[in-house]
Amino acid sequence: ADPLKKRRIAVLGSRSVGKSSLVFQYTENNFVEAYYPTIEATYTKNIKYNGVEYDCDIIDTAGQDEFSILNSKHAVGIHGYVLVYNVANRNSFEMIQIVHDKILDYSGETTVPCVVVGQKCDLADQRQVQQAEAQKLAANIHSAFVETSARTNTNVGKVFELLLAEIEKSTNPAPEP
Ligand code: GDP
Repeated sequence: ADPLKKRRIAVLGSRSVGKSSLVFQYTENNFVEAYYPTIEATYTKNIKYNGVEYDCDIIDTAGQDEFSILNSKHAVGIHGYVLVYNVANRNSFEMIQIVHDKILDYSGETTVPCVVVGQKCDLADQRQVQQAEAQKLAANIHSAFVETSARTNTNVGKVFELLLAEIEKSTNPAPEP
């Protein structure tokens, strides 16, 4: 049998958008109503997608602001990025473009596989970012897009499937016509 394909995924975004909750829901199938300690942690999970099994490292980063969100060590050896904002917090949405531009700067690439994730979509009455606007941003930066709730376990698995698909696209580009 083929060896498992190794994939390293970094989860980035402003503080308390629910990065840890998203990763915890995905890897442990649970949600706890608490702030997680802001320390960086790496989780491993085998993800079967499109008949292929991937051995994934998911790095839950602990940046606090636009200066520390992207550490230079997150620019090398990472196959794809989960860029998380909170649909009920416009500042966290504005951070997505900033972080994306930094990834390009650090990596020297013109595109990187990303999925833009609008977290806490259960907070409908507090929404500050409309889905159409976020979709437009995602298209501009050639990223996939999904809204999620770690609390209600909505679309959490989809995040990682979309990202694996983006990574596949970049490693197996369509042949030139
Ligand atoms: P991080 O700093 O980005 O890792 O954010 P955390 O995972 O620590 O979450 C910050 C806060 O948001 C915590 O109080 C969580 O319980 C809460 N939270 C996380 N995900 C969701 C969600 O999907 N919906 C709601 N309503 N709250 C959430």
